[in-house]
Amino acid sequence: MLYEKLPGSRVKCGTCQWRCRINPGKYGVCGMYRNENGALFNLNYGRVSSMAADPIEKKPLFHFHPGTLCFSLGTLGCNFQCQHCQNWEISTAESAHLMSRCRELSPQASIELAQQHRCQGIAWTYNEPVIWFEHTFESAKLAKANGLYTVYVTNGFATPEALDTIGPYLDVWRVDIKGFSDEFYKNVSGVPHWREILEVTKRAQDKWRMHVEVVTNIIPTLNDDDKQLEGIALWIRDELGELTPWHVTCFYPNHRLTHLPPTPQETIDRACEIGKKAGLKFIYSGNIPGHDSENTRCYSCGKVVVKRWGYDTEVTGLNGSKCRYCGAELNFRVLALKEG
Ligand code: SF4
Repeated sequence: MLYEKLPGSRVKCGTCQWRCRINPGKYGVCGMYRNENGALFNLNYGRVSSMAADPIEKKPLFHFHPGTLCFSLGTLGCNFQCQHCQNWEISTAESAHLMSRCRELSPQASIELAQQHRCQGIAWTYNEPVIWFEHTFESAKLAKANGLYTVYVTNGFATPEALDTIGPYLDVWRVDIKGFSDEFYKNVSGVPHWREILEVTKRAQDKWRMHVEVVTNIIPTLNDDDKQLEGIALWIRDELGELTPWHVTCFYPNHRLTHLPPTPQETIDRACEIGKKAGLKFIYSGNIPGHDSENTRCYSCGKVVVKRWGYDTEVTGLNGSKCRYCGAELNFRVLALKEG
């Protein structure tokens, strides 16, 4: 959908911020778009590697339809090469050979499956959704026509053009801000430029009124310094607003970072303090079931309004987007959906 033809049968892909220029017969960085005789084709349209009816809290998303089920789909490949990828089996170039083992699922069939599993929404997750952009775009349109909410769990590297194309049909931009330095994004995720992620995320919220939640997976020695954590927290406060949820999650040794230790609890606590000091009202520590910060407390009256234990969720004190007890605005989104 999003490419321009260049002289000599070359093409320029406009789907993500790599903006690959691709020679005939060759692939883009993600390995999922190929130039065939001067036309750009997506190779993983309708190819599903993973799917599940997940609690929305698993994305993680805490302020959007809490307690609902979200039909979650992933494909193969990625436009990043994160050293710590939790889903490297499906996201790396080596996974391309699994294509023939993917399940073929049309956008229409994915909506029907979501409904059969009594899900209230649909998410493209597990790997970067923009690299099967055409599939997610058509699915999102159908999902909205069928009364389902729609979620991108993304690294934020889509172009503004891609965002503006899918924007009318997407409710949630659950974005990773993985670090806050050129060095981190280059060395850990393999991308030389990353600041447009911030612009595109702000655009998702401002132009398309999407609900935005931010996740930072904190990796010992790589992005656990105060400077990067403060950078992220202050950017969220200044550009997205103090009511934007920030999830700071524990790293576990994985993929190419098996030599690093898991994130200590003190580091997560320090990140929470940094977020609090920056003025953020909702900071959640992920991957620590039973921790008090899994719950949502009203910042104004201090009462718990959503209780969580792992993926068990109980809404106890919400009135729409506000605190039922004191009326403070808590930035919860609950859309009018069709009955499942
Ligand atoms: S989607 Fe793939 S081919 Fe297109 S710009 Fe991004 S990495 Fe390159």
